[in-house]
Amino acid sequence: MKVRVRFAPSPTGYLHVGGLRTALYNYLFARKHGGAMILRIEDTDRTRLVENATEKLIDSLKWAGVEYDEGPHVGGDFGPYVQSERLAIYQKYVAELIGSGHAYYAFDTQDEIAVMRESKTDSFDTKYDRKVMKNQFTLGAEKTQELLDGGAEYVVRLKVPENQEVRFQDLIRGDVSVNTNDIDDQILLKSDGFPTYHLANVVDDYTMSITHVIRGEEWLPSTPKHVLLYNFFGWQTPQFAHLPLLLNHDKSKLSKRQGSVAVEDFRDKGYLRDAFVNFIALLGWNPTADREIYAIEELIDLFNLEKVNKGGAVFDTAKLDWMQQQYLKDLPAETLGIMLETELSKQGFKSADSTTTAAIAHLFRERVIFVSEIPTFASYMFADEYSIDEEYLAKHWNLETRNLVVPLIEIYSNLESFTHDEIAAVTKDYSKTSNKKMGEIIHPLRLILTGKPNGAGMFDTMQLIGKERCMKRFDEFISKYGI
Ligand code: GLU
Repeated sequence: MKVRVRFAPSPTGYLHVGGLRTALYNYLFARKHGGAMILRIEDTDRTRLVENATEKLIDSLKWAGVEYDEGPHVGGDFGPYVQSERLAIYQKYVAELIGSGHAYYAFDTQDEIAVMRESKTDSFDTKYDRKVMKNQFTLGAEKTQELLDGGAEYVVRLKVPENQEVRFQDLIRGDVSVNTNDIDDQILLKSDGFPTYHLANVVDDYTMSITHVIRGEEWLPSTPKHVLLYNFFGWQTPQFAHLPLLLNHDKSKLSKRQGSVAVEDFRDKGYLRDAFVNFIALLGWNPTADREIYAIEELIDLFNLEKVNKGGAVFDTAKLDWMQQQYLKDLPAETLGIMLETELSKQGFKSADSTTTAAIAHLFRERVIFVSEIPTFASYMFADEYSIDEEYLAKHWNLETRNLVVPLIEIYSNLESFTHDEIAAVTKDYSKTSNKKMGEIIHPLRLILTGKPNGAGMFDTMQLIGKERCMKRFDEFISKYGI
């Protein structure tokens, strides 16, 4: 049987990082098994609709490179792929369940339900009490029909049998078993004519021939209800795999309160797609013990649902930053250069020629997490006005350092080719003849040319600033701070 999996988000306005992990695992599984990946939009909760939410979600999936074979806009043989466009399908199946006695009409108001709950002695028991409430069993067939004909508001509920074990196999968690006494008579069809998540999800997974349901652990408590529905319809259940929760550092469930959870925020901050996807892929799964960096093809090749962990995965932003640096340092200089050019113009800095910009980006790539940090981090590369760090000045500018660099500046001014190697060679010679350590020489140079204690290699920096600008900076500095 051809593998068919789906990512079934509710359009909440953005793609949650946990949603991306689910989408990605579905995608990896589909690609690994030559199957189909489906995107289905679960928009049956009309109270939570957000404008353009589906488009935003699709944008984020596209950015992450999670492709789908069927879904809104791309189509497919099992559409429509948006639940609000499938209402007739759900109505048909609800009618079937009512007919077979597995679902029933209920006419209770919200207030009546609240009163029922309050009257319970066990405050944890929020289950609908079918025997006392206003439904087709307590009202009888005739009264029920009368209410329906009269246009009364109703919902359709699942008739959960008493005291039976519902069992299913989870590919990650193994055997799961729940007693029906712990399952509520779930609403299947709401009074607005829309199905609830449970009904729509099961009907769609079945009618879309989904073979594996791979979703977050938060849906595990819903699965017994789904299994009941599959049984009542006489359908074979798909295979289930519930992915571990994503956690904050303090092991609480990952939440907006402790930082960003929207994929688009990470994208906008400047994380590289491949780094971010690599990081997300390892939330709950370690492909091999020996490394952390994987190309998407390797992830597809190695993916194995049975190797996914049960325990929650900490969303460790320090690890994400590390991952980003690994990818950044491997980018070709030209790519980095183009990225830096965009940043320079965004931030109002002057661009150098593209070769120099690429070389600067390449030089600084290991000192930043985002390319967007380079313009300010290395502002002296782009602008001739830069500030001098007072502490650094106090530490490295005095009569002795002045007397040390002045003759060296003279040597530099005679250099024909102002390249890293030439500058390094004459500076090393000078270090020997003057009997000073390189460090002692480099600090005042760095102070004069960049104004701050940290940066990239000094000779590379000098080559990229260029001889003329370096000489000008030496002159200006000495006339300003000359001792
Ligand atoms: N609509 C659910 C969500 O928003 C889908 C859960 C499932 O995959 O069954 O995550």
